[in-house]
Amino acid sequence: MDPRGTKRGAEKTEVAEPRNKLPRPAASLPTNPALYSGPFPFYRRPSELGCFSLDAQRQYHGDARALRYYSPPPTNGPGPNFDLRDGYPDRYQPRDEEVQERLNHLLCWLLEHRGRLEGGPGWLAEAIVTWRGHLTKLLTTPYERQEGWQLAASRFQGTLYLSEVETPKARAQRLARPPLLRELMYMGYKFEQYMCADKPGSSPDPSGEVNTNVAFCSVLRSRLGSHPLLFSGEVDCTDPQTPSTQPPTCYVELKTSKEMHSPGQWRSFYRHKLLKWWAQSFLPGVPNVVAGFRNPEGFVSSLKTFPTMKMFDYVRNDRDGWNPSVCMNFCAAFLSFAQSTVVQDDPRLVHLFSWEPGGPVTVSVHRDAPYAFLPIWYVEAMTQDFPSPPKTPSPK
Ligand code: GDP
Ligand code: MG
Repeated sequence: MDPRGTKRGAEKTEVAEPRNKLPRPAASLPTNPALYSGPFPFYRRPSELGCFSLDAQRQYHGDARALRYYSPPPTNGPGPNFDLRDGYPDRYQPRDEEVQERLNHLLCWLLEHRGRLEGGPGWLAEAIVTWRGHLTKLLTTPYERQEGWQLAASRFQGTLYLSEVETPKARAQRLARPPLLRELMYMGYKFEQYMCADKPGSSPDPSGEVNTNVAFCSVLRSRLGSHPLLFSGEVDCTDPQTPSTQPPTCYVELKTSKEMHSPGQWRSFYRHKLLKWWAQSFLPGVPNVVAGFRNPEGFVSSLKTFPTMKMFDYVRNDRDGWNPSVCMNFCAAFLSFAQSTVVQDDPRLVHLFSWEPGGPVTVSVHRDAPYAFLPIWYVEAMTQDFPSPPKTPSPK
């Protein structure tokens, strides 16, 4: 049974033919961890292609203006005593989560740089373009028991674009988010403010506002198995003290977590939280995650650095632990599944991959709104222009 019936390539469908218009959806993909154990697949050392920033108004800038500098409290001093609830809610400008940004900021970067991508001509046409956060969800899927996901996929000029769709359940939970959870989200950003300075030499300024519109995003190139990847992820800060100032190895991810007291609490932390931290930082090659542990009153009194490449050690001998090979093999299998499912090259056509814990990944097919996500400005610019804006115009 070959579920992918349609040829790749342009197929003009001007007249609505409900029966034949959409390709037949493919089979499904199982997610059981046992199916994906085996050797760790090839994963190219991620390299940074560029970066961009989003400002306090969520406006795009093709530079590093929003990059912050790691500035922890002195290690010889009294240790931290960060009040993570300070400034809530009066000095909090949360991003408007109703705005569906999809891949837009990344596409903005790609449009600007498509003519000067490394990897040679045609590299992009073979690649998968997405957010790091979407890949993180794929990596953790074999172990996830709570939250499902939906990924919309479109092929355009060969490239496969993957953009997350908020599930109805996730939307309902977001709209009904309990006040305490809202405050916890703030506390995570407040921790960043205590740990980061705006300039390399200076100190953090916790008196200012926390504005979650602001973001610095790194754009990375990698490859998983046979799948070339171009993805972008938000980076918390760079460490100006680090021996290698070269991105992404100078980057630091900041996290907060509940203070732990019993061995059982630590075990659960290793099994669940470290998996998410590992997946998120391993993908872009961010070498260290610095955790601030908060007490029930919301104060951080201790910090601990977790090297990304050592996180697996905490669960290596745990029967109920996670395995990086399973995560990466599943992700590779999903990308192969998506590549073979999305055959037609058409920016208006969407294969929607859906997953709920306990089940397999399933597929449905859609055209145009509400699932199509490649914006007209992107499609038109990519269609009309030659894929290179050479700074020195070549002779006609
Ligand atoms: P993460 O790994 O989940 O933090 O996500 P990425 O680093 O891949 O973020 C990609 C883009 O999505 C950045 O512009 C982020 O500012 C933005 N972003 C991060 N978290 C969220 C979220 O919860 N919802 C939405 N809509 N965007 C987010
Ligand atoms: Mg963080």
